[in-house]
Amino acid sequence: MLPARRMRLLNPGPVTLTDEVREALLGSDLCHRQPEYTALQDEIRQRLQTVYSDAAANYTAVLVTGSGTAAVECMVDSLVPRSGRALVVANGVYGERIASILSIHQKPFEVVSSPWTGPIDLAGVERRLAASPAITHVITVHHETTTGRLNDVASLGQLCRQHRVPLLLDTVSSFGGELLRFAEWNVQACAATANKCLHGVPGTAFVLVRRDVLEGQKSAATSLYLDLFRHWSSQQQGSTQFTPAVQSMYALRAALSELEADGGWQTRHAHYLALSSRLRRQLIDLGFSLLLEDESVYSSTLTSFNLPPGVSFDRLYAEMVEHGFVIYPGQKELQTRIFRIAVMGDLSSSDIDEFAMGVEGVIGPVGKHQPAPVLH
Ligand SMILES: *Cc1c(COP(=O)(O)O)cnc(C)c1O
Repeated sequence: MLPARRMRLLNPGPVTLTDEVREALLGSDLCHRQPEYTALQDEIRQRLQTVYSDAAANYTAVLVTGSGTAAVECMVDSLVPRSGRALVVANGVYGERIASILSIHQKPFEVVSSPWTGPIDLAGVERRLAASPAITHVITVHHETTTGRLNDVASLGQLCRQHRVPLLLDTVSSFGGELLRFAEWNVQACAATANKCLHGVPGTAFVLVRRDVLEGQKSAATSLYLDLFRHWSSQQQGSTQFTPAVQSMYALRAALSELEADGGWQTRHAHYLALSSRLRRQLIDLGFSLLLEDESVYSSTLTSFNLPPGVSFDRLYAEMVEHGFVIYPGQKELQTRIFRIAVMGDLSSSDIDEFAMGVEGVIGPVGKHQPAPVLH
């Protein structure tokens, strides 16, 4: 193989791979009707449902071949019936995407939304739950990757428990890297993907869902491919509905083994937090400012920084690629205002130091009066 240059991906997935995960992609050719495939699938499902010890007893992992959105759509469409009513709690692109999914599948819903830079509106949720007994599901995003805010799902989960309404979570950018409490937060299901905090490659996503729901309810899916119940029943029998991304699953198996060997999600969380704190300190020292009000509201994995006056994302991106780093833009109205840095993947503190030095080399200290930096 060609020794490719090591690019460090600072976007929120796909991530910088370890050599072990990359090499796992070269596993044997395998038909998904062979017993070895069943063993691979069983092992991955088993490992996914034990990432959080809290979930191990009552939840099962259902695999879906697709990106994170496939898992979110599969969860939402299969669990919310047209006779139900969802309350979507949104403060960013991914919360709004959940509302779009419900709308496309013609599922009744209402939205409690807040500005993208604000927290979820818990008082608004409480009012809606009190006023509307018709609400059957509350749905939100755990880590809103739009800004990097880790939403207060503990408080939301409390409200769900009080009102006996199940909570569905988009944990696509937090599963494996942040604390999740399943019973305490009244979580019925959460959706996630292989290629963010779990450090696998794109192609495999999954829903972790309460077993009693799968056993006791009928599917509400209005989609053939994204029917959670169909996937579950075939996976329970050691089979698979459709052709899975076999190589992505090889990589996910290796990535889950690494996660376990490293000490599980808690160790990964501590590592992310150390890297993000280091990054924030260094960039703030250079004069950058955070988009959100305070460092404490961020997840461990992603930080949104305001672009300094006169520095475009495109220029910073292009300069940093030369240093071997890929940075990530803001979305929609934040596109020209911010850049985002995620620390998922195989990254170390020296990568962060090198990144901060590179940024300083490109634009110099921000906000200090000095001659325009020379760009070469
Ligand atoms: C990445 C992400 C998704 C899914 O995005 P895909 O491009 O479909 O993988 C969904 N929700 C959140 C919060 C995400 O960060």
